[in-house]
Amino acid sequence: MFGTEQVHLSCAAGRVLAEDITADRDVPALSRSVRDGYAIRTGDVPGELEIIGEVRAGERFQGEVQPGQAVEIMTGAPVPDGADAVVMVEHTERVNGRVRIDRSTEPRQFINPQGCEAAVNEVVLRAGKRLDYTDAAMLAAFGREHAAVYRRPVVSLIPTGDEIVEVNETPAEFQIRNSNIYSLAAQVERAGGIPRLLPIARDTEAHTRMMIEQGLAADLLLLSGGVSAGKYDVVERVLSDLGAEFFFDRVLIQPGQPLVFGRVQGKFFFGLPGNPASTMVTFEIFARAAVESLAGQAEVSLFMPFARLTSDFRHKTGLTRFLPARLSADGTEVTPIGWHGSGDVPSLTRANAYLVADPERGEYARGELIRVLLK
Ligand code: AMP
Ligand code: MG
Repeated sequence: MFGTEQVHLSCAAGRVLAEDITADRDVPALSRSVRDGYAIRTGDVPGELEIIGEVRAGERFQGEVQPGQAVEIMTGAPVPDGADAVVMVEHTERVNGRVRIDRSTEPRQFINPQGCEAAVNEVVLRAGKRLDYTDAAMLAAFGREHAAVYRRPVVSLIPTGDEIVEVNETPAEFQIRNSNIYSLAAQVERAGGIPRLLPIARDTEAHTRMMIEQGLAADLLLLSGGVSAGKYDVVERVLSDLGAEFFFDRVLIQPGQPLVFGRVQGKFFFGLPGNPASTMVTFEIFARAAVESLAGQAEVSLFMPFARLTSDFRHKTGLTRFLPARLSADGTEVTPIGWHGSGDVPSLTRANAYLVADPERGEYARGELIRVLLK
């Protein structure tokens, strides 16, 4: 975590809270009715009661409900003293200016007691929470026009590869446009980081080293490509020379096997395999949590619910596979999308999820449950 800053509550959603927020008042501040009807004393019903007045939201009833009396009450209005329940208007009848209630009533019926949602001084939001739109309402409800949030971590993105050209260049047939850095930038933003896009590192130790040294100015370093076992995959060698400590350099997933994670000169780095799907998937499964943690998030997100397959499905066991798929609008059914391997970006754009195929299970029948990772 890299210090804090104050933000206005209108910009707070999406940021990670850096302080505990306490309630400055009970909510509700007074016991409130949750129905239109009559505030009564439960001992008086069934029965016919004298109506001594009305109370609506935004005001307080002056006086007290005595035995045999009722106050007409609107949703959101404070419950008058003396009353211990509200009877909804649909269950009452007006007779000559009085109200008749034919059924008995439990104490506290249709009343939200004072402080039942939050009590004064209670911690209602904890530091480390990534704020969402409900939290914006909470900050507002407790008078917090500004809140302390963590600074967003800066994440350097380094593409590598002699065959890679910038997007505004015309590639020769043997060249490929640099797309990974743009998918990564979007993923980093979504995880709460600030992407810093660096120029393409050439497949030489000298140039790759220069780019990595520039990248180390950030809080986290993400490299794309150059981590396989080829002669020109120099990323690991350069990192080693810079004194890197490696925590792992292979993972049993596909796409994405040659993923590298470590620390160099006090900064964490990921060497993400260069095929577009590998870069995207390894970011989601591994690097996203790192960005979220550096952003101060106490709980990281990796949501993999189950859905039913709409067709039989098989894959080769041994690795956990993440394959492009379409999840139905209601989230219950999932359909694999045909694709041509880790470079097939068009198929990935048609997907809204990945199927997560179990490494120990090669065959799934139509209708069976399988995990999905939302895209
Ligand atoms: P590498 O991991 O360096 O062997 O890269 C594997 C493949 O990923 C390359 O052959 C390219 O097709 C592709 N690739 C690498 N870097 C990028 C990039 N920045 N944008 C798009 N594709 C890339
Ligand atoms: Mg390469």
